[in-house]
Amino acid sequence: MAILEEPIKEVVTIKNYIDGEWVESEGELVDVINPATQKVIAKVPISTRDEINAAVEAAQRAFPMWRTTPPLARVRCLFRMKEIMEERFEELSRIQTMEHGKTIDESRGETRRGIENVEVATGIPSLMMGYNLEDIATGIDEYVIRQPLGVFGIIGPFNFPFMVPLWFAPYAIATGNCIIIKPSSEDPLSQMKIAEIAEEAGIPPGVWNVVNGGRTVVGGMLDHPGIEGICFVGSTPVGRDVIYRRCGETGKRVIAQCGAKNFILIMPDANLERTIAACMTSFYGNAGQRCLSGANLVPVGEGLSEQEYEAFYKKVVNAFIEAATKIRVGYGLDETVQMGPLRDKGKKQRVVGYIEKGIEEGAKLALDGRNVKLVGDWPTDAFLNPTVFEDVSPDMTIGREEIFGPVASVMRARSFDEAIEMIHSNPFGNATSIFTSSGKWAREFQYRVQCGNIGINIGIVAPMAFFPFSGMKDSFFGSLHGQGREAIRFFTESKVVIQRWF
Ligand code: NAD
Repeated sequence: MAILEEPIKEVVTIKNYIDGEWVESEGELVDVINPATQKVIAKVPISTRDEINAAVEAAQRAFPMWRTTPPLARVRCLFRMKEIMEERFEELSRIQTMEHGKTIDESRGETRRGIENVEVATGIPSLMMGYNLEDIATGIDEYVIRQPLGVFGIIGPFNFPFMVPLWFAPYAIATGNCIIIKPSSEDPLSQMKIAEIAEEAGIPPGVWNVVNGGRTVVGGMLDHPGIEGICFVGSTPVGRDVIYRRCGETGKRVIAQCGAKNFILIMPDANLERTIAACMTSFYGNAGQRCLSGANLVPVGEGLSEQEYEAFYKKVVNAFIEAATKIRVGYGLDETVQMGPLRDKGKKQRVVGYIEKGIEEGAKLALDGRNVKLVGDWPTDAFLNPTVFEDVSPDMTIGREEIFGPVASVMRARSFDEAIEMIHSNPFGNATSIFTSSGKWAREFQYRVQCGNIGINIGIVAPMAFFPFSGMKDSFFGSLHGQGREAIRFFTESKVVIQRWF
């Protein structure tokens, strides 16, 4: 077992980045703990109302200068950011593993996906163009121009500390807005590093700000009349009841990407070997802490007799459990490890609570991840191994709620219609996948299913930066989504001009 060198060697005291200055917060400092080693790696401030207000005011002051900076000059900063991120790719990835727990390969994937958003936003001079039509009436022309709005708040979740704020920030900046990022206080180091890179890349003071903390900072953003819109990624109760509601009351634009409970359907004609391999990363990648993670596994008995269905069901479930048992769990900086810990002890306890609830409600615990077996000698505080429940029904707590951990719930559906009904009876609509070799079922699935991100023989439906990150029902509140063209529309206002010259 060889552990890659850790880039964070001493406890880092995190500062806020406001108006181009690194400022110490007056707020209380909270420990950031590496979940695999349980060592303190940083101290993050829980910033005050005055501090978020100061950041909004700095961003408001910077806005007139930044919006009149030509788009080509604005994106030159993003090109530089990309270059620096590429140079520091491995360091940035290892920091994610240290602060979050995911494996180094997952972190490298996250860094890549984050950088891709910077790349797409460098196309702003073309992407932000409006459109026009001559002679809407004789001698009269009409056109649309897109303009930035001002200051936006970006609130990140803990599960993708590097990438998620980059679903929004590069587009906001490239279109001429100013931003304040509030990273998750659980893993704030990646956003500190990105702000350092923004500074080095020449983004002027006040344009890119980071204020660390919790609900005081979020409340400050929501209440401040100087903030035009909020991009939030996190759980449904916060996204819906705090962010979306308050943005409605205060008239702010909002993107609120929220929780999930994703169903994975396996049809009898699926390529089982490839399907099971895809399911392993879907259910257990990032220790199940993804809004795109598989949660409910449904072997579908369409066209099968009762007996054939039993045989098919057993084949799928046995192969799934066998593969899950082989997953190597440990510290993500060991390159042989395939699954890291949960983000912290509390999150592990929450998942254990769901496992207990599953047993209590009568589901069959077919693989118990509470028997922690690790590669290497690490404190087991935040670790779980892959877990599988059989005989789960859609109305059981573990079949209905977001567990956000390495737990698969297997459900039975005798027909395609029954499987669709199961998905629709769940309040979430983030992602879902079907594994099949039939074009008919694939098309029927994409046509009917009420989910924002749909996989056909794909286990993790992560949209690329030039496509929107969708979501429906309790998984999304707002109208335009993060990434690509939709983000560009979100961060700009369309003005219509009609002109005639006498
Ligand atoms: P969370 O809702 O606990 O926190 C998200 C952010 O909101 C954090 O920055 C946090 O500090 C802040 N926050 C928490 N409680 C708050 C409150 N009461 N008032 C104001 N602000 C508050 O979510 P999390 O645990 O960090 O992230 C996991 C959740 O995010 C999961 O539900 C997951 O499905 C979801 N998620 C969704 C997507 C998506 O695109 N749909 C992507 C990633 C994660």
